[in-house]
Amino acid sequence: MKKSAEARLSRIAEEVEVCQLCPLAKFRTKAVPGEGDASSRVMFVGEAPGREEDLTGRPFVGRSGKLLTSVLEDLGVGREEVYITSVVKCRPPRNRVPKRSETDTCVDAHLKRQMEAIRPRVVVLLGRTATAKIRGASTLKEVRGKLVKEGGVTYLSTFHPAAILRNPRLKGTFEKDLKLALSARAPRGRFRNPPP
Ligand code: URA
Repeated sequence: MKKSAEARLSRIAEEVEVCQLCPLAKFRTKAVPGEGDASSRVMFVGEAPGREEDLTGRPFVGRSGKLLTSVLEDLGVGREEVYITSVVKCRPPRNRVPKRSETDTCVDAHLKRQMEAIRPRVVVLLGRTATAKIRGASTLKEVRGKLVKEGGVTYLSTFHPAAILRNPRLKGTFEKDLKLALSARAPRGRFRNPPP
């Protein structure tokens, strides 16, 4: 019998928690597989866990995560209604950008399978690392804020919430991008409130 998306995600999470496939494994406190609704139409992909995520094993719970959660709430979407994860599942030392070999390994072993399990309609790529890895774009500027459909999935790249914390003037654009991404998740009705 075919396994449910939830069962497949739990299985992947168990593998992530004990993963030793790349050198980041030796730096982590906890691996951070991802969390949210396994049957969501929308998936968010960040770069890598930070300090709070490493301590808790949960994605986007630090300052960047609080900002993401609050923008989603403003758009009428609870974070538990979408699926949130990152390109790599272990915190790089001193929050450095993950290396190509690390993103290659982690995406092949885990993220690709998470995407196959969830089969989202919309994938929001937060920042340059996710955009480069999943879309192959060399700069965020090239693709930011555009809906791009490929193989039945609509991708949208936007700023990483950490960039908004560094430069709050980007927040309006970030909100506009997320609103556009959420508008591509139709049909309506799966979320608490449609975005205003
Ligand atoms: N930044 C990310 O890209 N992922 C997290 O889980 C937290 C911060």
